[in-house]
Amino acid sequence: TVRTRFAPSPTGFLHVGGARTAYFNALYAHKNGGEYLLRIEDTDKARSTQAAVEQIKESLAWLGLSPDREPVLQSTREARHAEVAHELLAKGAAYRAYETAEELDTMRAAAMAEKRPPRYNGFWRDRTPGPEQEGKPFAIRIKAPREGTMVVEDLVQGRVEVKNEELDDLIILRSDGTPTYLHAVVVDDHDMEITHVIRGDDHLTNTFRQCLVFDAMGWERPRFAHIPLIHGADGAKLSKRHGAVSVLEWRDQGILPEAALNALLRLGWGHGDEEIVPKERAEQIFDLSDVGRGASRMDYAKLMHINGVYIRQADPARLAADVCTRLGADAVAEARITALMPAMQERAKTVLELAEGAKFALGHGAPLPDAKAQGQLNEEGRARLTRLADALAGGDWSRTGLEARIKAFAEAEGVKLGAVAQPLRAALTGTLVSPPIDAVLAALGDEEALFRIRAAAG
Ligand code: GLU
Repeated sequence: TVRTRFAPSPTGFLHVGGARTAYFNALYAHKNGGEYLLRIEDTDKARSTQAAVEQIKESLAWLGLSPDREPVLQSTREARHAEVAHELLAKGAAYRAYETAEELDTMRAAAMAEKRPPRYNGFWRDRTPGPEQEGKPFAIRIKAPREGTMVVEDLVQGRVEVKNEELDDLIILRSDGTPTYLHAVVVDDHDMEITHVIRGDDHLTNTFRQCLVFDAMGWERPRFAHIPLIHGADGAKLSKRHGAVSVLEWRDQGILPEAALNALLRLGWGHGDEEIVPKERAEQIFDLSDVGRGASRMDYAKLMHINGVYIRQADPARLAADVCTRLGADAVAEARITALMPAMQERAKTVLELAEGAKFALGHGAPLPDAKAQGQLNEEGRARLTRLADALAGGDWSRTGLEARIKAFAEAEGVKLGAVAQPLRAALTGTLVSPPIDAVLAALGDEEALFRIRAAAG
């Protein structure tokens, strides 16, 4: 059975690229009836933080991408990593290397100066340590093959290969007994029975070195799928200056998680010209063969478009609850916002926009009018509002009732509907952009609405 994993390093927030990797892993596993796991790669103790671990989990939970099992913490497995390194040593597939850190630094510096790749010179590869080495610290290095080619059939990149002579005898266990990252990943992927490793193509070169360990242990390699990086609209690697790159920032900006997933999916994966692909559908049709080889571009306009589609389809009560949390609305305002939501969600692109547009529903009394609204509250407008309040008071307060009565009022005044609706909007919301005016009136209720109209009329 298929088993995938998402393996973030908790050195920062979950960014768009990481979230997409998580989603592809979840989709591939679930499409194939398998499991999707999470491994927190926290072996870099200087850079890993608990806050980042929490943030990653929170981001995944928000997206609906929590793993199918308890997450694995890589740092808890160090003894096992060391055990495997010693096993390789015992079977002659790895060797002890006694260079000190300074000696390695010198070697690296020399290589750099001569513009050669900084490769280990293999000094201890075929040497048996003598009595001078007794009790001295040593690193364990893998004995990489010197001839032939290493081939990986990548599920996205196709066939990739490297000459074995270019691979280094990489250190798998440092002289302080800690495993190196590349080694730990292999041991964990094996022990977690990972069948498919789906990750960013910045890991492609690591793959060859990781295969050294799989091969040396005689373990079956997983299949690999390296997905292209995400670029900004300008073609440069996605970064802060392109806009939000953390998934929780998307949430703060009012992106719905299902829209976020859809946008992430469309970063690099395509199925015909389907743009709106909800998770349920993606779980049926996702395949790695539909992942492109070229870098994909993060397009925020498209994200907003997709989000607008999901907002229109969303349950109004859920959107209202989200908006109310953002606004800190009380029960009275919540009832108003819930009533307004079906009208509001028709045209908003984000929950933030919904919240902005629902602010007028808070509290008692008319909100301070902005400049444009102020313009509608001139003498003529205010006189009309006074007459309107009298006409509306005590009558049918349903949306349809209100719509008919406002129309009748405009006719009686001999003006177009706008000449009534605009000052009314100004009075009720303090702005000239709002959901349909009858919806606003109905949501506020007769008492509050009439109070606001009369207050604005002065
Ligand atoms: N921990 C690595 C990263 O965050 C991912 C390693 C992997 O997927 O194998 O980039």
